[in-house]
Amino acid sequence: MPHQFDFLVIGSGIAGLSYATKLAMHFDTIGQHVRIGVITKVQADETNTKYAQGGIAAVWSEADSFEKHIEDTMIAGDFLSDRHVVEIVVREAPERIKELIDYGTRFDKEHNGNDYDLAKEGGHSDYRILHFKDITGAEIERALLDKARSLRSIEIFTHFYAVELITRHQLGETVHRYDTDNRCFGAYVLNTQTGQVEQFLAKTTLLATGGIGNIYQNTTNPNIATGDGIAMAYRAKGVCKDMEFIQFHPTALYEPGKKPNFLISEAVRGFGGVLRTRKGDTFMENYDPRLSLAPRDVVARAIDSEMKKAGDPFVYLDVTHCDYEKFIEHFPNITAYCNERLGLDLRKDYIPVVPAQHYLCGGIRVNEWGQTNIQFLYAVGECSCTGLHGANRLASNSLLEAVVFGHRAFLKTIELVDQANIPTTIPAWNDAGTTHPEELVLVTEMKKELESIMSNYVGIVRTNRRLKRAMDRLELIYLEHEELYRQSKVSAPICELRNMIEVAYLVIKMAMARRENRGLHFNLDNVKAS
Ligand code: FAD
Repeated sequence: MPHQFDFLVIGSGIAGLSYATKLAMHFDTIGQHVRIGVITKVQADETNTKYAQGGIAAVWSEADSFEKHIEDTMIAGDFLSDRHVVEIVVREAPERIKELIDYGTRFDKEHNGNDYDLAKEGGHSDYRILHFKDITGAEIERALLDKARSLRSIEIFTHFYAVELITRHQLGETVHRYDTDNRCFGAYVLNTQTGQVEQFLAKTTLLATGGIGNIYQNTTNPNIATGDGIAMAYRAKGVCKDMEFIQFHPTALYEPGKKPNFLISEAVRGFGGVLRTRKGDTFMENYDPRLSLAPRDVVARAIDSEMKKAGDPFVYLDVTHCDYEKFIEHFPNITAYCNERLGLDLRKDYIPVVPAQHYLCGGIRVNEWGQTNIQFLYAVGECSCTGLHGANRLASNSLLEAVVFGHRAFLKTIELVDQANIPTTIPAWNDAGTTHPEELVLVTEMKKELESIMSNYVGIVRTNRRLKRAMDRLELIYLEHEELYRQSKVSAPICELRNMIEVAYLVIKMAMARRENRGLHFNLDNVKAS
C-alpha cells in the first residue's frame, strides 16, 4: 500500500526541518489535521547541518546594517548573485533567527549575559555571526529535531532512501526540461532495512537533500552528501544551475585517508589564526591585502599554489600567539579534536590544514519561493540554487538561506496546496528482472575513480584539457554503472553512485561552459585567453 501524505519532506537538516515545522505549527493553529512525512536516509541528525561550526549570519547589532550585509554578499558572490534574492535573505534573517531561538536554539552570549556574542568571519565587514561555541549546526539540528518531534503531524522515517521522484513521466506522459506543466506527486523510497521500494505519495514534495561533497576525495561533508536530490530533480527534468561554483574550504584538518575531513572553522582565522608554509613562513601577503582573512576562494587558491610550489601535502595554521584560554572557550571542539587525534598542543604546535570540498553554491534552480520548474516540487537548502550565493558563498550565509527559504517555501505551499491532487494511476516500483549484484566491489572502485577524476581535474584550479579528460573518463564510468543499475535491485550505494555520476556530469558540463573566471570557478585557460 502506498504511503499517503499531504506533504513529503526529503531531508532532515535545517532546510527540511524548518519547513516541516512551520507547516505543522500552521495546521495545528488552524485546527486542521495533516500528515507530514519527513524521510532521511540514515539517522535523523546525520546531516551537513550537524557539522556546521562557525554560525549563522544576520544583522543583529546597531552598528551593522542590512546594506553592509547585502554588499558583503554581493562582493563574495563576485556580483553574480541575484540582488533581489540577497535583499530578501538579509532583511528576513533576524526574524527567522528569532524563530530558531524560540524553538530552543542557544547562541553564545556576551559576559553581560544579555547581548549575543557576535563573531566576524572572512568577507564580513562587521560582527554578525551568531554561534554556539564551535558546534552551532549541531545545536540548531538538536533544537529543530526536538521541535519537529513534539509536533503530532510530523512523522520522521529514518533509514528511508528516496530513489526517484514521481512525476508525470511515471504516468506514461512525455515531459521536457524547462516544461512548466510537469508535476510531482511524491517519490519512490527504498526502506533500507527491508530492501523494499515503497510509494510515498504527497500533494507537495520538498527536496532538502543537502550537498555533494562525496564526489571529491577531500570533503568536510558527511557520507550522506551525495547529491541525491539534485540528481533526482535533474532526471525528472528539473533545471539545475551554477554547478561549477564549488567552494573548497581552505582549512580542513590534514589527516591522510580520513573522510570526512574535520573542519578548522573560518572563525579560527577570524580569531587571529595565521597561515604558514610547511617551513613556517607566512605567505598570504603575496596574494591578498586581507591576508588570512581574505575570502575562502582566494585563500584556497593561495594554499593550493603554495602546496604545488613546494610539493607539500598541507600548510599550517598557527594559533600559538592567541590567548589560549579564550581560544579554548571559543573552540573547545577543535582544540580537543586536534589534541586527541593528532596529539597537538595548540599553545606550541601549528595545525596542518588542506583545502577540502565544502559547499555547493549551485543546485536545483528555484524562484524566490523555493519552487522548482516542476509544479508542487520545492527545493530548499544546499541542494537548491536560489541566486543568493552567485559565484561564491559568503561564510555563514547557507544556514541562513535554508531558514529563510524554508519559510518562503512554506508560505507558497499553503497558498497552493488546495490545487494539488494525486492521480490514482501511479504504478508501483517495477524491478522485474533485476537481481542483487554479486560484486559490490565494482561500485566501490567506480566511486574511487570518480573521486579521483573530480579531485584531479575539476578541483580548485581547472584547465580546458583537464575538464575534457574528466568528461571522457566520466562517460566510461557512466556507461558501466548504467548497465549495473539496470540489472540490479536498488540499494543505497548503487543509487548514490548513480547520483554522484549525474552530479559530476553537471559540474563538469557547467565548468566547461563558463568561459570567464568568476568567484569559485578558476580555469587557467581563461586567464590566458583574457
Ligand atoms: P543537510 O543538513 O545536509 O541535510 C540533508 C538531509 O537530506 C539529510 O537528512 C539526509 O539524510 C537527507 N537525504 C539526502 N539524500 C537523501 C535521500 N536520497 N533520501 C532520503 N534522505 C536523503 N553553513 C553556515 O551557514 N555556517 C557554518 O558555520 C557552516 N559550517 C559548515 C561546516 C561543515 C563541516 C559543513 C559540512 C558545512 C557547513 N556549513 C555551514 C554549510 C551548512 O551546514 C549546509 O549548507 C547546510 O547545513 C545544509 O542544510 P540542508 O538542510 O540543506 O542539508
